[in-house]
Amino acid sequence: MLIRTKHIPVIGEYEVVVCGGGPAGFVAAIAAARCGAKTALIERYGFLGGMATAGAVAPVTEFMHDGRLVVGGIPLEFVRRLEKSGKGTMCTPRGNFVCHPEGYKLEAQRMVLEAGVDLFLHAYLSDCVIENDRISHVIFESKSGTRALSARYVIDATGDGDIAAMAGVPMQDYQCPLQPSTLYFVLGNVKTEMIRGYYPGQPGSSMKHVRQKLNELSRTQEVPQFGGPWCLAGMGEGMAIVNMSRMAIDWTDEVQATRGECQLRENIDKLVKLLRENFEEFSEATLLSTATQVGIRETRHIRGVHVLTGEEYKSAFYFQDSIARCSHPIDIHSDKDNSQICIYLDKAAYLPYRSIIAEGFPNLLVPSRCFSADREAFASARVQASVMGLGQAAGAAAAICCEDGGGVKDVDIKRLQEILITWGAYLAEDE
Ligand SMILES: Cc1cc2nc3c(=O)[nH]c(=O)nc-3n(C[C@H](O)[C@H](O)[C@H](O)COP(=O)(O)OP(=O)(O)OC[C@H]3O[C@@H](n4cnc5c(N)ncnc54)[C@H](O)[C@@H]3O)c2cc1C
Repeated sequence: MLIRTKHIPVIGEYEVVVCGGGPAGFVAAIAAARCGAKTALIERYGFLGGMATAGAVAPVTEFMHDGRLVVGGIPLEFVRRLEKSGKGTMCTPRGNFVCHPEGYKLEAQRMVLEAGVDLFLHAYLSDCVIENDRISHVIFESKSGTRALSARYVIDATGDGDIAAMAGVPMQDYQCPLQPSTLYFVLGNVKTEMIRGYYPGQPGSSMKHVRQKLNELSRTQEVPQFGGPWCLAGMGEGMAIVNMSRMAIDWTDEVQATRGECQLRENIDKLVKLLRENFEEFSEATLLSTATQVGIRETRHIRGVHVLTGEEYKSAFYFQDSIARCSHPIDIHSDKDNSQICIYLDKAAYLPYRSIIAEGFPNLLVPSRCFSADREAFASARVQASVMGLGQAAGAAAAICCEDGGGVKDVDIKRLQEILITWGAYLAEDE
């Protein structure tokens, strides 16, 4: 055991510190700042967007149910701005938004800076300090050394619940496998004219014939585990972003994470060869890049005041403290083989405020994919539009707490819902 002690400079005092600048985090920071809270946003990469940009997950799903908007406010404003600048397209009737990761990075950054958020990029969160049951500081590593920010309220939007875990928030133990991860890759020289629409009105394809053929080949030769494949074309001439590789890894373990990155890169080498050799549309394809990091679907989940269940979810149970909606199907990718379970929802589900807070942690909100849900509910609510909805609620709730001075559990829910509805969130109970 090596023990190291050192003095850490506190370089800023904030009302709200948002940890992680993915879909949940950057929206949370905008929301808190627009409510008047002095807000900082800390992100390990040099850009915002989380899995959407670092992981190259191009689709932002789903804003609509049967053609009717169910996610509104800042998340919708974000994609409308992208659309207006020609950097993305909203597809009906499910409200799937497709955009280029580069457009995403720029627009997210613009909105965060316009809101007056202090942005800390290239800042890796490594610890937090607890004083009297509250997280008083968050600590990060940067090229300048170890640094701390003081915080009245903390929003953990790291996706993996890093700050919550460091603070000692209890995590759920599902006794079941995590959803597998996927390293996205980008191909050039694809005959994109041969690829049918994946989302209505969009180039791209679910490539069922590719799936069928690869499954056949796997009986006689080595084919790495894969999902889909899903292929988004139309981002540039001959270019396609491919969601295909698949591997079950626990990303909170650095040994597994290293093995996963290396193995998936090897697998992509094999998959690209298989695509070139077996399918006319990919016969001249070249690998342009892999994503900055493997796309992680699932790691930790906090045990919140409420654990959202699949039953509540599928019945679209209306909670008095509903703060966000979601209409993405329950979408479970197998950790063992190439299969996937996809259950479409009859109605858009409601997500309660109590699922983003934990008992005994009065100044912490956890709105990102690590929020408190069981496996089924998570398998739907994990997607971008819903975690952005949770993020905007967390930001507004933290700002209310700054005014009231109370714990996150005591927040005036009616006031929070009024703010969200004013911004355009769709929280009314469906008939
Ligand atoms: C393969 C794949 C396909 C998907 N397909 C879709 C889809 O079709 N539609 C859809 O809407 N969603 C999809 N998703 C889900 C979606 O991308 C994520 O669920 C969503 O990005 C979650 O957002 P988040 O903000 O909760 O977490 P993340 O996106 O993980 O963001 C977390 C942020 O925190 C930062 N961070 C983490 N730890 C630290 C640290 N210690 N210090 C500093 N910063 C840190 C990260 O860099 C990141 O920016 C997919 C995901 C994967 C992996």
